[in-house]
Amino acid sequence: MEAPLQQLHDPLLQEQEVELWLKREDLLHPHISGNKWRKLKYNLQEARRLQHDTLLTFGGAYSNHIAATAAAGKEFGFKTIGIIRGEEHLPLNPTLSFASACGMQLHYKSREAYRHKSEPAFLEQLQAQYHQPYILPEGGTNLLAVKGCTEITEDISLDYDYICCAAGTGGTAAGIVAGLAGEKQILIFPALKGGEFLQAEIEELVLQYNGHKYNNWQLITNYHFGGYAKVKPELLAFIHDFQQRHHIALEPIYTGKMMYGLFDLIRQGYFPKGGRIIAVHTGGLQGNAGFKERLGVEI
Ligand SMILES: *Cc1c(COP(=O)(O)O)cnc(C)c1O
Repeated sequence: MEAPLQQLHDPLLQEQEVELWLKREDLLHPHISGNKWRKLKYNLQEARRLQHDTLLTFGGAYSNHIAATAAAGKEFGFKTIGIIRGEEHLPLNPTLSFASACGMQLHYKSREAYRHKSEPAFLEQLQAQYHQPYILPEGGTNLLAVKGCTEITEDISLDYDYICCAAGTGGTAAGIVAGLAGEKQILIFPALKGGEFLQAEIEELVLQYNGHKYNNWQLITNYHFGGYAKVKPELLAFIHDFQQRHHIALEPIYTGKMMYGLFDLIRQGYFPKGGRIIAVHTGGLQGNAGFKERLGVEI
């Protein structure tokens, strides 16, 4: 399994005299997509070492992490339990129907109950109720996930100046920051509105992971398009155009927003001439089927 680098050719890049390469993490695995594979890798090893036979995790009804955990359980021989936010809707949407087909047991929690998902008392109750599963937090972010994500930059043989990634919980970004250990400039594009909270979150994850604090990264918080899973016509048009030009699919929650923001920064002359930029394609394309269903738009 490889995540090759692929150079993009675009008149804008030529005009601004920058190079842009995509790190195709989306090609790592057909069902355990991109950064979710990186985040699961050491957790699966740990679950096995501790002799758990079940993985339990949390997510929304369209969660890439739920889909990835279900697929990983099937592939590596764990039972899986998904605690899903909100009510059950039948027929299952494409994400949950995939998870279910992988053997994941789905349990729904009201939005109110779901809010307690990281509280010790709630987790203890789940431990007892489901026979001591290995519990992964929502989005899969913990220190073993950070460790896995330090490997995103390990096989990049090219020299470069900037690396960009999208962020939800910030676990992937923390891994990239820790892996680069002060080298390069890292631009992190939060998918949520009010993404400034990730400053402290990422700093803390990195600190817990390796005891260091780095200053070579920054959040670019103004490309959230109204909030998590919110989209605007110009974002969808950009994704469509990107697909036409480069034959690479993006999704509107994370990678589409990052790439839109990155192109916008390039257009504004943010990057010095001669600069080489790497953008991490974190995958997540499974969600596009559900988006199409919800919004009636083709992505
Ligand atoms: C989950 C996800 C992210 C965000 O990862 P975090 O580690 O939670 O910040 C980014 N891109 C895609 C495609 C994802 O599925």
